[in-house]
Order: sequence, then C-alpha cells, then structure tokens
Amino acid sequence: MLKNFLPNEHVPRVLDITPDRLREKGIKGVITDLDNTLVAWNVKDATPEIIEWFQQMKENDIKVTIISNNDQERVSIFSEPLEAPFVYSARKPLTRAFKRAATQMELKKEEIVVVGDQLLTDILGGNRAGFYTVLVVPIVETDGKITRINRMMERRVLAWMRRKGMISWEEE
Ligand SMILES: [Mg+2]
Repeated sequence: MLKNFLPNEHVPRVLDITPDRLREKGIKGVITDLDNTLVAWNVKDATPEIIEWFQQMKENDIKVTIISNNDQERVSIFSEPLEAPFVYSARKPLTRAFKRAATQMELKKEEIVVVGDQLLTDILGGNRAGFYTVLVVPIVETDGKITRINRMMERRVLAWMRRKGMISWEEE
C-alpha cells in the first residue's frame, strides 16, 4: 500500500534530470507535472532554464509530455510556446492520462519516467500506471490547491523515506 506512494527516485529539481542520466537508464520519454514541478504554480510562462531544459531534451530525442490536473487555459498557455504535447484536467492519480500520453509518445512504459512534486497525484498515479517515478521538491511551498490532508500524508511519507536513508540531502 505505502509502496505506491514511494517514488523510485527523489531529486531536488527537474533540471537535475538530464538527457545523459535518462539515456543511461534507456529512457526515451518524460511525462511531467506542471505546477510546482516545472515552474511555481502561480507563474504563467516557462523560465529561461525550463525553456533550455525542453530544448536539450528535444536535441537528445527525448520526448516530453506535460500532464496536469489544472485547467485548459493554464496548461495550454504554458505548453504551447514550448511545442510540448500536454494533457489538462488529467485527474491524477487516475492512470488514464498517463497511459494515453505513453501511447501518443509511441513508447513503452519502461522507456518513460514520470516526474512530479506530489506523492498523492503524480507519484501515486505514475506508480499505479506502472512507470518509473521521480519526485522533485515543490518549487514554492504555498499551493492553494493542495489540501492540508495531502500535505500531512506527504510529510509522513517523506519523514519515513528520510529515516530509511532514501533522501540524501537536508531539507528545511
Ligand atoms: Mg504539482
């Protein structure tokens, strides 16, 4: 049960996920969350670093799809300038959007990593759909859409991971 909430890997930022590291694992595609994973939830457009990250992925033939529970306006305004395929109102942790993205990317499950900042949507959904999952630290603490219960659950799982030595750096 708890296993479904655990990411396969935990990195500080999405920028730490590089084409070289993905290639070592035989990964050809990334399914990523938007809010607090790529940019802060209240930032409309991609930052120069994120634009560069998408560019590097493209140059290395790594496909990136954005899957977000947020609405069409938010997700399309962010994704279209990056020329990245996207799914809005994805209803994570349901697995449908993840599976649809994999089909559209024409890749096998084993060739895709799922990236996100929330255990209860991104990681739970990615795990249930059978993907390798990578948790990132949320870009900003405040997110109007995360309920207090979600946060409490996440803190407990993260504290457990820290005790088990699965998180190797210090967090505030
Ligand atoms: Mg998020």
